[in-house]
Amino acid sequence: MEAELGHNPSYVWRSLLAAREVIQEDSRWRVGNGVNIMVESDKWLSHKPVFKGDVQPSLRVAELIDKHSWQWDRNKVAGMFATKTCDEIMAIPLSRDLRRDTLIWKENRKHEFSVKSAYQVALRLKQGVEAEHSRAREEGKLWKMIWDLKVPPKIRNFMWRAVSNNLPTRDNLYRRGVAVESTCEFCRQHHETEAHVLWECSFARNVWALAKGRVQKCSNNAQDFFQLFKLMQEKLTQEELDQWCTTTWAIWNARNKAYFQNVQSPPKVIYEGALQLIAGYQTLSATQATT
Ligand SMILES: [Zn+2]
Repeated sequence: MEAELGHNPSYVWRSLLAAREVIQEDSRWRVGNGVNIMVESDKWLSHKPVFKGDVQPSLRVAELIDKHSWQWDRNKVAGMFATKTCDEIMAIPLSRDLRRDTLIWKENRKHEFSVKSAYQVALRLKQGVEAEHSRAREEGKLWKMIWDLKVPPKIRNFMWRAVSNNLPTRDNLYRRGVAVESTCEFCRQHHETEAHVLWECSFARNVWALAKGRVQKCSNNAQDFFQLFKLMQEKLTQEELDQWCTTTWAIWNARNKAYFQNVQSPPKVIYEGALQLIAGYQTLSATQATT
């Protein structure tokens, strides 16, 4: 898609060139032999690749493929990229039959270009950017609140990841192309999103049923974890919010224990463990503040 404007460009041609940026913005490379795709600057993953160290800007995707087995060079990929990026790359299927890299325009599956559809994308991108700005402002406020929580740093850190939808839930892994089922293992009825496993699922509800105060009055449904945290922050007192975050963290840990070690923690143990942790931490911080 290389082209320049001539000296007397027609209206249609100008529109096409304007649309070109839009199309590039909304396209993704499908890996064939990787020769045409630049690792760092082209769009071929769901996110900008995160590297472990410095990387040559001229590095091509082809160099990550083992030419004999026609598989990803696992050692090279694992050595070069952060875990999340590495997982996503390893999940991209490679095929000897599919030698050519193709640029896929998400908007139009038949790859038929039309100025009208490009214009619609342009419009949506513009609206998307505006929506993103207002969300960024909101996030800025929320992050300050997370920073002000009187909880151990590891829990603050956890909340940060949860609010940015970065916990490795089944749903998140699935959407990033990792070969897992997105279904929640506890209820087997819903996608395992953050809001589901930490709040909506019966696994979490059994813990929240033990909580007292305003938490009890909050709806069991949540749009996403970001919205849920925002709601809690509005409804709960500071003390309740600190406890809520710690309990959420404890539920996530219990989930991991169940998933990876096959150990079931009773709701009472999860809840009381969280309360003890937060009480202990706050007492300790209070003593440190006075000495
Ligand atoms: Zn569930």
